[in-house]
Amino acid sequence: MKVIVDRTKCTGLGVCESLAPYFFEVNESGELELLKEDVAADELATVEEAIASCPTAALHIER
Ligand code: SF4
Repeated sequence: MKVIVDRTKCTGLGVCESLAPYFFEVNESGELELLKEDVAADELATVEEAIASCPTAALHIER
């Protein structure tokens, strides 16, 4: 499973970073950096919570 970012939708608000900081980091330019792409089974719940909390629906998981 991989996290996919739709950069046309992401506005760099950083909600995902606050919920799953091992995966997401908003850099000094306000751009989202994906620190980790592959999602392990024990990380899925955390990543899904971050995805559900994104206000612009810019994240999804590719299975
Ligand atoms: S929560 Fe959504 S809009 Fe905000 S930085 Fe993360 S992916 Fe981008």
